[in-house]
Amino acid sequence: MVEPVDVLVANGTVVEASGRHPANIAIRDGRIAYVGPERPHAREVVDADGLFVLPGGVDTHVHLMDPGALDREDFPSGTAAAAASGVTTIIEHTHGHPVRTVKDLDEKRHYLKGRARVDYGLAAHAWPGHADDVAALWAAGVAFFKVFTCTTHGVPGHDPAALMAHLVATSAVDAVSLVHSEDESMTAAAEQMLRAAGRKDGGVIPEWRSRDAELVAAAIVGLLVRRTEARATIAHVSNPEVASYARAERGRGARLHAEGCPQYFFLREAEVLHEGALRKFTPPARARTSADEDEMWRLLKDGVLTHISSDHAPSTIQQKADGDIWSAHFGLPGLDTTMALLLDAAGRGILSLEEIALAYSERPAKIYGLWPRKGSLRPGSDADLVLVDPSAERFLRNEDVHSKARWTPYSGRHVQGQVVRTLLRGATIAAAGAPTDEFRGVFLPGAGGARGGAA
Ligand SMILES: [Zn+2]
Repeated sequence: MVEPVDVLVANGTVVEASGRHPANIAIRDGRIAYVGPERPHAREVVDADGLFVLPGGVDTHVHLMDPGALDREDFPSGTAAAAASGVTTIIEHTHGHPVRTVKDLDEKRHYLKGRARVDYGLAAHAWPGHADDVAALWAAGVAFFKVFTCTTHGVPGHDPAALMAHLVATSAVDAVSLVHSEDESMTAAAEQMLRAAGRKDGGVIPEWRSRDAELVAAAIVGLLVRRTEARATIAHVSNPEVASYARAERGRGARLHAEGCPQYFFLREAEVLHEGALRKFTPPARARTSADEDEMWRLLKDGVLTHISSDHAPSTIQQKADGDIWSAHFGLPGLDTTMALLLDAAGRGILSLEEIALAYSERPAKIYGLWPRKGSLRPGSDADLVLVDPSAERFLRNEDVHSKARWTPYSGRHVQGQVVRTLLRGATIAAAGAPTDEFRGVFLPGAGGARGGAA
């Protein structure tokens, strides 16, 4: 290389899903130009001595409420959380302002210009009876279709017939779906019974959103994905039994992914009894013992759970306190803490750094058509890098949350390992837990996006 490269990330240990090795990474024009022992002349040198260098996090289940509910989150605040925590790519969708048409997508893309600190794909919402819209939206570059099997957050649920029609339409263009799986009839019956009994305690959440309601829906989703030869992800798998159904359908040939989220590895079912709306999310936490958590980690390591997402859906503590347990928003803030919790699991020997690179970067990038531009450290890939100090220790704290939520269910938890710098296409977008003031994020079209290119 005669011309100096733009950036050299020197002396680090490079970690990918396939392994780790000491190497320098040279970056030119925002892309990785070289990985290896050479030390090309560079305009900027980032010293990574003693640090691990991982591919930037790819978080494919994120709600930033922008446009939609800016009092809960927006792109500047939500992507600040992403950048500071080591996430360089998100796929976003907002239930209160769904993308249902190509016009919706174009308007959202236009609106979001200059509002993102990290790169982003955008998902569409599937609507019962509107399977005809799938092909045009896929060609326009949506990352996936979000499907509900139960009416939730104001988005109508798909019964099996409507789900079948949607999956047939996606199969025809090889589009991918993310399916929130809870059975409508079972959640509705439980809600009616609990409301009739006058219940308003936190315990209504796991009874309303029961294990069986999730399992019934997941089983139907798996069956129909296989029958239609579609591609889909079961969203936020809450417990091992649901994962086992996904594994069984995959064994029969279904192209079915299973998404894990930290709340099903770190939070316990009983917490909602005293925390109330601060643990209102659905499906709810199911773990009752550390053995339950161990089983979730095993399923992730075995690839039954294919990847990790935050399902970032923030509300402030005040918003969570408004009304009663029935009317409070569902969801947790998660972008600030997901990478930190995974790194801590690595520090405790539960997960390897390679498995983090696989589950929170490479696999989701592959599932949603972003690889190898994203989720890879090979030459030619975008230079999205996370520098991790494995020896740093800290406590997760509400004060450090960049999301407008300003709190985390993991506050007070001691964690090992820390992201010390995040690079997006070669530019530092966060250092020492603080995002820079640069809004470099661009739109990433999904796999069907013929119109391609950055917005
Ligand atoms: Zn979600």
